[in-house]
Amino acid sequence: MSTPELSQQPSVGLFGGTFNPVHIGHLRLALEIRQHLQLDEMRLMPCALPPHRDAPEVAAQHRLAMLQLAVAGEPGLQVDDRELRRAAAHAEARPSYTIDSVAELRTELGPQAVICLCIGMDSLLSLDTWHRWRELLDFVHLVVVARPGWTAPQSGDVAEWLKQHRIEDADQLHQQPAGKVWLETLTLLPVSSTEIRHNLAVGQSVRYLLPEAVIGYISKYKLYARDA
Ligand code: ATP
Repeated sequence: MSTPELSQQPSVGLFGGTFNPVHIGHLRLALEIRQHLQLDEMRLMPCALPPHRDAPEVAAQHRLAMLQLAVAGEPGLQVDDRELRRAAAHAEARPSYTIDSVAELRTELGPQAVICLCIGMDSLLSLDTWHRWRELLDFVHLVVVARPGWTAPQSGDVAEWLKQHRIEDADQLHQQPAGKVWLETLTLLPVSSTEIRHNLAVGQSVRYLLPEAVIGYISKYKLYARDA
């Protein structure tokens, strides 16, 4: 029996964030990367929030439920709740490390699956502060989303590392399961969760900034209201 071609292996994108709440900027980014890189699926992975990062507090279960509503009916987008499950299992609030998530996902999907971890250029600039950052490429490719006009780091450890691993053609992502860095330039919608939380706190409409189903959920549970 011949070995299956790598291109026939599943290809999965992973996009982490607080999603507090998820909005159309996140959803369009996930969809566009999936389409452009021809990934079978894109997973949105909410991270556990340290207590008191934001006021008012919104429980992890609400952030997760809103994400699930947001992707319902879009077969290419999935929710991956591993970091919330891990945080719930470690009540002592151990930090949630990306390296743990990608290692776990690699074990689940097997050695041949193509996995692309998507991060913003802002995160790339401080990548060397991440726990075991050099090992990330043992498990996944890194897709760095750059807004037009952003430039990659030019000096320092991350710049050197980027020189070694950066590819010039996105097709190369499908030629091996992990180990490469691709810079994807995208125009991002000018929406932020901070702005949405602010609008909700002052009683202003957030219509069209996030899916209707998510707005319905926020209003049902009175999330982000100043007196919540
Ligand atoms: P906050 O305003 O609370 O910081 P946020 O809107 O930036 O939230 P996060 O959940 O922190 O959202 O971000 C998750 C990921 O989505 C990050 O990689 C971030 O760079 C990216 N992101 C944030 N806003 C947008 C947007 N408008 N379009 C595309 N991606 C975005």
